[in-house]
This record gives sequence, structure tokens and C-alpha cells, in this order.
Amino acid sequence: EGVINRIAAGEVIDRPFSVVKELVENSIDAKSTAIRVDIERGGKKLIRVRDNGTGMSHDDAFLALERHATSKLTSEKDLISIATMGFRGEALASIASVSRLRLITCDESDEPGTELLVEGGVLRKAERIGSGRGTLVEVANLFYNVPVRLKFLKENRWESDLIDELITRFALAFPHLGFTYSQDGRLKLDAPPVKSSIERVHTVYSREVRDNLVAIDYAFKDVRVHGHVAKPPYVKSNMRSVFTFVNGRSVRDRLVNSAVMRAFSNLMERGRYPLAILFLEMPPEQVDVNVHPQKAEVRFRKPKVVSDAILNGVHEALMGAPF
Ligand code: ADP
Ligand code: MG
Repeated sequence: EGVINRIAAGEVIDRPFSVVKELVENSIDAKSTAIRVDIERGGKKLIRVRDNGTGMSHDDAFLALERHATSKLTSEKDLISIATMGFRGEALASIASVSRLRLITCDESDEPGTELLVEGGVLRKAERIGSGRGTLVEVANLFYNVPVRLKFLKENRWESDLIDELITRFALAFPHLGFTYSQDGRLKLDAPPVKSSIERVHTVYSREVRDNLVAIDYAFKDVRVHGHVAKPPYVKSNMRSVFTFVNGRSVRDRLVNSAVMRAFSNLMERGRYPLAILFLEMPPEQVDVNVHPQKAEVRFRKPKVVSDAILNGVHEALMGAPF
């Protein structure tokens, strides 16, 4: 059983980034309003996510560490809906099978909280403890029992850059939630809850970047594109500066990226990239976000409409007129 879990875990959890992603998504699903993420050594040594969400009862805490223990898949509609981000019911169990995982959780009942310690999928400790409402998950020594996986991890800096970007995405996508993020004891982001994504942009980016941003709000057929793009000459030499969210969910999609690039193409030098934070809203049935759970790719029912909406929206924002 342990071995099967560990093999399956490799499908879902391939690096510290995926652990952080799954844990933060769980915290968001649990209606948290404040989420704190701490990582050490690129997340290889430690990943800690603490939230003030609903927490779990004693029984649910045990269940959560079993495979397919999701509490979230309630109807077939959920399969196409992207309202709930987590849907597989195996992330926690997978992570626990390839690390030393500590879970401390407490729901709003009068019962005390629960602490569970799982090492390589084996339950080592289960205690009732006093704790405030919410959940803390600590993942230490990821892949300590899967040397093959460990070997494929890159240097700490590379791994933590990925996580930085992920936290930025979460912070931009969920402005009404507070995010705190530290790396090796150094505070990297302290973003209190705000009302809108533009306020969040102000917390996340430097003044120089902010001053160059223009707002987009463009509707084309069923698709609405809103958000912000930076005016030239503000450019970054990194495709990761295009942040896109489809119905509130962070995605990294080729079609979206290339539409953004085309909109900027006359304005950009080669090898330079725009900064864009784009929220696409469309009816849920027009987009399939579950193409590959790991890759954050999406499939649009009407790709042409989406890329035209982006192209025209970005162009209008930059030039005052659509293409
Ligand atoms: P999924 O998110 O797909 O349901 P997970 O393995 O990520 O699967 O989590 C299993 C279950 O554990 C969740 O369905 C939820 O009930 C519970 N859970 C996990 N993390 C949290 C959290 N931070 N707060 C409250 N409940 C949680
Ligand atoms: Mg989950």
C-alpha cells in the first residue's frame, strides 16, 4: 500500500511547488481569510501552511489523510465547475506518503484540536491538543523516502522562485484573503486583505511597476477580460510576468500567453515580455480546467473568442482602441 501511494504521489506531487499549491488551495477551500506560508531551503526542508479556516474534526483529520477522502465532490456539476479548486481528494494523503507531515487542526466545535504525525504514509502520532480554529500543515523532508524524486529537484533558489510566483498568483487572484509568505525566515510578502485585485497589485509590486499599469475592462461575446497591463517601456524578460486567471483560477495557458504577446508585439523588443494581470470571466461550460491537474492548462470551447477578447482588450487598454 505504501509503495502504491508513493508511486501515485509522484503523479500529483512532483516538487515543493505542488505541495504549496495543494495546501494553499485547501486553505482557500476551507474559507480561510488569512493564510501563512513558510518555506525553508526551497521547500525541500520544510513547507508550512497555516490557515484560519473551518478546520477539521478529530475524525475528519484522520479521513483527510486517507486517499480519496475528499469532502468536496458533491455533484456531477462540480466536475465541470471551477468554483472549487481541489477535487481529487488525494493530495494530503499523497504528500503524507512522501514526507514527514504534521497536521494540527481544530474546527469550531468545543472539542480540542487534533495533532497527527505521519511519516512516509505511516501514522506515528495522534493526539488531542489545544489549538485555535484552523489548520496547520507542516511538510518536512519532502521525498526523503523517494530518492528518485529527490534527485530531480533543482537547486533551492530555482524551487523557491517557482513558489514565489505561485504565491504572487494566489495573492493576485484572492485579494480579499490575507497572505503572508516567508522564505528561510525572511518575510517576502505580507499582503493584508484588500477589496480589489488592483489594491493587491499595489501591495505585491513596486511603485515603478504600479505607475506604469493601465486598467483593462473589455467584453467580447461571452468573455470578459479585466485586470491590468503595464505600458511599455516597462518590460520584463520573463514570460512569468503574464498572470492569467480564468474564472478566478490561476492558469498558465499557451493560447492566453500568445494572445497577450500578439497584443504587445508591435510595442516590444524581441525577447522582452509585458507584465499583465488578466482576469478572464466566462460561463463555466466554455472552459475545461481539468485537462491536466498539474499543468494549470485549460481548454477553451471557443479559443478564437478568448484570444480576440484578450487581443482587443489589451490593445484598447494600451492604445485607447481595439485592434
Ligand atoms: P481535496 O482537496 O481534493 O478534497 P485533499 O487531499 O487536498 O483533497 O484534502 C482532503 C480533505 O481534507 C479535504 O476534502 C478537506 O475536507 C480536508 N482538508 C484539507 N486541508 C484542509 C484545511 N486546510 N482546512 C480544512 N480542511 C482541510
Ligand atoms: Mg485539496
